[in-house]
Amino acid sequence: MANKTLGLDSNLYQYFQQVSVREVDILKALREETQKYPTARMQIAPEQGQFMALLVQLMKAKKTLDIGVFTGYSALVVALALPSDGQVIACDVDEKMTQIAQQFWQKAGVSHKINLQLAPALETLDHLIAQGENNTFDFAFIDADKSNNNNYYEKALWLVKPGGLIAIDNVLWGGKVADPDIKDNRTEKIRNFNQKLHQDPRIALSIVPIADGLTLALKK
Ligand code: CA
Repeated sequence: MANKTLGLDSNLYQYFQQVSVREVDILKALREETQKYPTARMQIAPEQGQFMALLVQLMKAKKTLDIGVFTGYSALVVALALPSDGQVIACDVDEKMTQIAQQFWQKAGVSHKINLQLAPALETLDHLIAQGENNTFDFAFIDADKSNNNNYYEKALWLVKPGGLIAIDNVLWGGKVADPDIKDNRTEKIRNFNQKLHQDPRIALSIVPIADGLTLALKK
């Protein structure tokens, strides 16, 4: 027994995946397709996708944001968990990778739920704010360029409802955030961001050490 978070060696991690992950075929197929690309590790882990889908179901979310689409796994796993009139506004600038995303959204029969915005996400978010979409989103997932985490978070905080949830990926950054000798720009930005959220009175906070660390910020 342990009353602190376990470190998972590969044996325990394998067991954890065996008894928890229920990845459906279309998500498996997207994972296999994404493996062909050198940036495949940008894809979220299946246990994380499943956890996010559970959160979205728990909240009975209808309207969500996906900031940083890549090959579309997070948008797909969330769209599959949304009701038929649910909506994901998906933001990315990468035309090539989002083409893969769109193919899989179509195959999965959820493309009507996903609205891809091929533009810098900050512009899309500003546009939504200008259109009066503040306090209308249930859930936002931030997994894009890490140096902009704080900007995405601040805009998402306008857009989600009180009681809505913002999830931010890679907050443990492969462990680099805990090593004071590592001082590169992105690590410092993630460290500052984590510290800021720890003190932020506008949210209830939990950092879940799943995959590369997932911050959950519930807007008060
Ligand atoms: Ca990520």
